[in-house]
Formats: sequence, structure tokens, C-alpha cells
Amino acid sequence: MTLSQLVGRFIGVRRHRVDAGGGGASRVPHPVTAVVVGGGIAGMSAAVVLAERGVEVSVLEAAPQLGGRLGAWPETLTDGTRHVNEHGFHAFFRQYYNWRNILRRIDPALRFLRPVPGYPVLSAEWPTEEFGRLPPAPPANLLTLLARSPSLRLGDLRGMDRDAALPLLTYHPVRTYAEFDHTTADELLDSLRLPDRARAMLFEVFSHSFFNHEAEMSAAEMIAQFHFYLLGNPEGLAFDCPDEDYATSIWEPLARHVERHGGRIRTGEPVTALHRDSGGWRVHSGQGSYQAGHVVLAVDPPALAALVAGSPSLAGQAPSLAAAMPAYGRPGPPYAVARYWCDGDVSPERAVFSGVSRQATLDSVTLYHRLEHESRRWAARTGGSVLELHAYACEPQVPATVLAERMRAELAVLWPETARLRVRELRARVEAKAPAFTPGSHAGRPDVRTDADGLYLAGDGIGTVFPSALMERAAATGIIAANHILRAAGGATEPLHSIRPYGLLTRR
Ligand SMILES: Cc1cc2nc3c(=O)[nH]c(=O)nc-3n(C[C@H](O)[C@H](O)[C@H](O)COP(=O)(O)OP(=O)(O)OC[C@H]3O[C@@H](n4cnc5c(N)ncnc54)[C@H](O)[C@@H]3O)c2cc1C
Repeated sequence: MTLSQLVGRFIGVRRHRVDAGGGGASRVPHPVTAVVVGGGIAGMSAAVVLAERGVEVSVLEAAPQLGGRLGAWPETLTDGTRHVNEHGFHAFFRQYYNWRNILRRIDPALRFLRPVPGYPVLSAEWPTEEFGRLPPAPPANLLTLLARSPSLRLGDLRGMDRDAALPLLTYHPVRTYAEFDHTTADELLDSLRLPDRARAMLFEVFSHSFFNHEAEMSAAEMIAQFHFYLLGNPEGLAFDCPDEDYATSIWEPLARHVERHGGRIRTGEPVTALHRDSGGWRVHSGQGSYQAGHVVLAVDPPALAALVAGSPSLAGQAPSLAAAMPAYGRPGPPYAVARYWCDGDVSPERAVFSGVSRQATLDSVTLYHRLEHESRRWAARTGGSVLELHAYACEPQVPATVLAERMRAELAVLWPETARLRVRELRARVEAKAPAFTPGSHAGRPDVRTDADGLYLAGDGIGTVFPSALMERAAATGIIAANHILRAAGGATEPLHSIRPYGLLTRR
């Protein structure tokens, strides 16, 4: 434990228990059946917990592989080599307690997760700023940032509206949303009167990572995410990631774990509708139908809206769920991922992962050939490099290859040597499946429990009463859904954890 974590602990910045778990039999005392729709992080987290407690669980996944937005699938490059391509580089932050607990099932010491050194933010206007080497816990991380950051000098702090900044330090799971959910993140940032450089380097990079434009994102949500990642988090901004592709390191072993506990996993099986009758829930897929006492819908927001629309009886059985769908089902802006296999390498001092500030499209760059074994081997053999470029919230209706080329051109402004790299292969995608956190959306955000008996939701757009986001929210909501089922069946529930539930200066 570092000194900053020790001090943080003293003021409650530590891992908090949300649910102690237990309270029932280690295996459900009578037969219980469940269908989980969606085999991403949320669905597989639910399936792991249910299968381990003896619930007869089936996972139905539309895609040919598990993983959803953390998915990975084999592809053959034109040079004949087989590569596992992925949905995109992911940072596994250390306060992802619930997701990490699921991953401990396949590797108790989490040795497959390797620390990624540094977290630099690149800019064409200002020198690179490093966030990965701050002390992990607040308040030391914040004080060090203020002392060290060239983007925010003492004089700037005097010019700032400190009252406007207070909400960042007084996060409250109810009051923050009551006061700020109808304000945009942009308006909140404007009100701080930050110097342009601090706004760009410290705040904008961060808010982009949530797949929403600041002008269309709730300020309350931004405050909640600042709290989750920086101001209430004892683990720091440093993160880890697997050194093998996600199929090898996560999905194949996790699927084996579920199957070893009696669970069934069906990929390539899209669910089209569901309804409840006297026998329980009936779930219809392209291949047949499944009967179960409980259903967990662990799909992305547009897929959930389509599923509810395709299940007309839900309007009567789950009216609140059906009413929430038109707004919830509209995803955030499209995100783009481009993986380039190139001749030649970038300069040796470039970081494995970098955030990018104020480029029109590019938000991050990852050097796969310095991160993951397969890409490393390809680069060693060819003398080349594997770069992955991300845009987290881009212009709609632009083809993936156009976005990829825009990102590559923007990278060349930041790292001039990349202009000379010859592209051997490109895999580019653009999709819109991330939840939108628009102003005013909090009140209508669905929870895990629906108004229909035995029907639950899970996913990174579903509300939690404790701080969570992205992969961690997906895992946590999957576990909560499983816990509801287990509690009803007399089974022991899974423990849940999170960070400090309130801001550093929140009065309770
Ligand atoms: C490029 C990119 C980078 C990211 N980086 C990070 C990061 O660094 N850190 C982080 O924490 N998060 C990151 N995320 C976010 C993270 O990927 C998501 O929060 C998380 O994967 C969501 O998991 P989920 O299970 O809720 O949803 P999904 O992963 O979307 O899973 C839903 C599943 O449901 C399936 N499905 C849909 N419809 C049906 C149907 N009708 N029948 C059956 N199955 C269906 C889908 O195929 C999918 O597999 C990133 C996302 C992207 C796209």
C-alpha cells in the first residue's frame, strides 16, 4: 500500500462493500432455470455466478463469438498470417473490483493482466502530459496533479470559478443527478472558467472516453465518472491489460468455466422475442425456443430496444421497461476502431497507449506490437508495427475506412514518423452501440430489476446505485441480476464492491 492509499484510507477512499454476498445455499436447493441473452461481459458475468450456484443457465449470443464490445475473432491477413482481431484495446482499471473477481475464476492471481506503463495525453498544441504516474489515491493524486501539471498553474486556479468546481468533489448518488443531470458536460466545463489548455488536456480527453460528446452528455454523469476514475478511486489511473488477445485470455477460459459448472453457451443464436406464460419465460431465437424461470437481457442498448419492440406482450408485462426503450435504445455517437499493420516502426520512446487531445477524430493510439504476443511476433518477423487507432465519439454516417484515414493523418501530426510507415493491412470498423448519457436521461435509465417478475437487465447502460462505468458496470449489473435470481431461489449471492460512495467533500 502506498502512502497516498494509506492517507486515502483514513478518509474513506478505499474498496467499499456494496453487498456482502452469501445468505443462502452454496448451490440452489431446488432446480432453477435461467436464460441469459447476450454473451458480452454483462451476460457472461451473470452466467458465471448462476452456473457456479447450480442454476441451469443457457447463454444465447447472436454473434459467432463471445465478448460483445470486448470480442475477438480470427482473421487472415493478405500475407497469409492468422491474427485474432478485436473490437478494440481496453484498459482494465484496478478499481474494477467486480469484473476482476469474475476474471479471477480463470486466473486467481490475474497474472494474464500486465501493467501498461504510463498514461500520456498527446496534443498538437501543448507538450505531452503524463497521468499514469500520479499517486494512486485522492487527495494526493489531485494535489500532485495541481502541483505538477503545466496545464493548470496556481494563477489559473485563482482565475477559476472554485464554486463551480465544487460539484466535482461533492459527488452524491442522488443529489448530483438532481442538480446536474439537465446540464451538459460542456456547460459545466464552461462554468469552471478553466484555461483552454487545462480544459483540453485534463477534462476533454477524459469525457471523450465515455463515448459521448460533451455537448450531449449529462454533467451529472461526467461528475460521477470523475469520481469513479479519479476523485474517489483508491487504485489510481494506472491500468492493466492482457498480453494475449481477448479470445485466448478471457472468453475461451470463461466459457470453459461456465460449461464445467453445467452452463450451456450458444453462439450465433440471436434472440428475436420473449414472452411470459403460465410456464415462465419463453425466449425465441432463430434456432428454437427456450423455457426458463428467469431471463437476463444483457444486450447493448439498441439491441435491447429491438428485443422489447419484437416482444409485444412486454408492453403489458413490463410497461416501465417498454416505456424507457425509445430513449434508452438510442445509442451514443458512433465509435471507430482502425487496426493498421505497417512496414516500419514508430520511435522507440512512444508509449504503448496514449490518449489524444483536440484532434477532430483521433482519441487514442495503442501500439499492439509492444503489447500483445501475436502482434509482437508479427512485428519481429516483418520489422513492422501494429497500431490501433480509436475515435470514441465521431461524426455519424462516415464510412469506417474514411474515419481510419482521418485518424492516421491526425496521428502523423502528433508523431511525424508515422507518415512514412507503409500500410500493409487495415481492419476498420465503425459502430454505434454504446449507451448515451444525454442530459435528463438519468430518471429514465433502466435498473437491473424490471417490472416483470423474473426478467432482469444487465449492461454498461443499466443504472447502479454505486459508482461504476463501462466494463465494470457491465460486470456489476450482470452479478446483480444473478444475485436477484439467487436470492429468490435461496442461493448464496455473490459479493459486490465499489469505491468510496461519496465525494471527498460531500456532506451527508
Ligand atoms: C473501442 C472500444 C474501446 C473500449 N475501451 C474500454 C476501456 O478501455 N475500458 C472500459 O472499461 N471499457 C471500454 N469499452 C467499453 C466496454 O467494451 C463496454 O462497456 C462493455 O464491453 C459492455 O459490455 P456489455 O456486456 O454491457 O455489452 P456488449 O459487449 O455490447 O454485449 C452485448 C452482447 O449482446 C449480444 N446481442 C445483442 N443482441 C442480441 C440478441 N438479440 N440475441 C443474442 N445476443 C445479442 C451482442 O452480440 C453482444 O455480444 C470500450 C468499448 C469500445 C467499443
